Amino acid sequence: MRILIFNEHKQDKTEAAVRAVYPNFIHNALADVLKDGNTVKTVTLDDENCGITKEILDQTDVLFWWAHIAHHEVPDAVAELVRDAVLGGMGLVVLHSGHMAKPFKLLMGTACTLRWREGSRERIWVTSPGHPIAKGVPEQFELAQEEMYGEYFDIPTPDDIVFMGWFAGGEVFRSGVTFRRGLGKVFYFQPGHETSPTFHHPVIQTILRNAAEWAAPTCRGNILYCSNPAPLETGAE
Ligand code: ZN
Repeated sequence: MRILIFNEHKQDKTEAAVRAVYPNFIHNALADVLKDGNTVKTVTLDDENCGITKEILDQTDVLFWWAHIAHHEVPDAVAELVRDAVLGGMGLVVLHSGHMAKPFKLLMGTACTLRWREGSRERIWVTSPGHPIAKGVPEQFELAQEEMYGEYFDIPTPDDIVFMGWFAGGEVFRSGVTFRRGLGKVFYFQPGHETSPTFHHPVIQTILRNAAEWAAPTCRGNILYCSNPAPLETGAE
């Protein structure tokens, strides 16, 4: 698989609490998880146009997206390229605070808002045990330290709710949800707060690898235009 990882790369550069957890930056931590058997490239906001072009997306099977405080710095044209690539079959995995990222909001068509609070224990339950993204994941597991994301999460009704999160403050959240958009597959996954060691957790790493495999294209094509073909048969009209 050809995997592209976008990380806005702000807080993991400048904030000591984030550097302490991800000294080699979030995009490289994700790349380490996903690199076995795959071609993995990383891009950030520091790259021109986020390092994203149509040609690069054409050569990408699955795009991972982590972003938090600088969604507005992603040009609209880049977000539209990502949306169009998904409609054409590219897989997209949106992590944690990426719920407010422009490409995700374009693909959902809703506000994608939720409630949040820093610092909580989370228990994650598998709610779709037969789903490929849940393969090898225990029926429930705990993250000692995550950010609380709670319902209501303003997304369209997902195709599948693979994981449900419960937080020590009493909230629940649809933590792992899947969507089909055009020919492409989208997975949103809630864990991954920048000051929590979530991406170092072995179960989370299994889920990320499963998500890449699930989201990889089974079919790609240009469905952005309506075609106007000649009839296959003649004389039948
Ligand atoms: Zn967060």
